[in-house]
Amino acid sequence: MSPPDHAPYPDAPADRDRWILERRPPRNPLDPRRPYAFLVESEPGPSGGPAVDVATIFLTNRECPWRCLMCDLWRDTLEETVPPGAIAEQTRYALDRMPGLVPERSELKLYNAGSFFDPRAIPPSEYPGVARLAAPFRGTIVECHPSALGRRALEFRDLLGKPLEVAMGLETVHPEVLERLNKRLTLDGFRRASRFLAEHGMSLRVFILVRPPWLTEAEGLEWAKRSLDFAFDCGAAVCSLIPTRGGNGAMEALAASGDYAPPSLASLEAATEYGLSLGAGRVFADLWGVEAIPRCPSCSAARVERLRVMNATQQAPPPVACPDCG
Ligand code: SF4
Ligand SMILES: [Zn+2]
Repeated sequence: MSPPDHAPYPDAPADRDRWILERRPPRNPLDPRRPYAFLVESEPGPSGGPAVDVATIFLTNRECPWRCLMCDLWRDTLEETVPPGAIAEQTRYALDRMPGLVPERSELKLYNAGSFFDPRAIPPSEYPGVARLAAPFRGTIVECHPSALGRRALEFRDLLGKPLEVAMGLETVHPEVLERLNKRLTLDGFRRASRFLAEHGMSLRVFILVRPPWLTEAEGLEWAKRSLDFAFDCGAAVCSLIPTRGGNGAMEALAASGDYAPPSLASLEAATEYGLSLGAGRVFADLWGVEAIPRCPSCSAARVERLRVMNATQQAPPPVACPDCG
């Protein structure tokens, strides 16, 4: 039965999971012994240092237990925990297919569409095998919900014996919007988790949404800037700005009721430029799916290229002047 798409997003937190789940399209079929994607990307090093290769592996694993309103990562997840050894096997499979990668000069990014330290997603019995594969790299980056940090992170850090960076979704510091995103996260909780990382020698990467639902274009930019301020104040080494995307059913329902629209490329540029101007850490605009952002035919190619240059150089080139969109 298809959901009543006119039903408004519930005010009661207890009703939100169901509303979000009812609007989901099907998930993608996946092999639990293979990563669902992998690639080598390049990131500028810390403090303006030379670029490093980042071996990025998208691990196939059990779905995250949270039900964030804007999340579409569950599409590439499983309903069950992977069989023993599968996570290390996936990691080895991807690394064996990255010719030319020099681990000693590269970082390893293990993203699992959820929380690396959620034991039903990545069983702790996998940590030693994964840590052995990660050992030659300069450092490892994983992602985790702030509430899932704790002794398992320390266990994995100790097995690695190399720098560990944890990416956490702050999403937005707009208090009402953050609450409505159904992430079950408060700013205090985020700050506490950041402090935990710092106290235990792990670094912080932060995901920030540009124009989450219920905000105008101007508000979306303003709150992205405030979120960057907060993230760097929490000690972030890197902030990644994510244009809020559709594609999970729930966001399409919000778009239909006028509660969500993606940000413009100009807002994404302005947010990135602001983050870089702070000089507090690296700032990246997430360009995955950037083609879904409404485009001005006269300038969008130049704007995307400007974002790529900002990502690669951590400097803002002159702005794009457009006779059509300003
Ligand atoms: S915590 Fe992250 S992976 Fe989990 S539902 Fe929220 S956004 Fe998605
Ligand atoms: Zn234009």
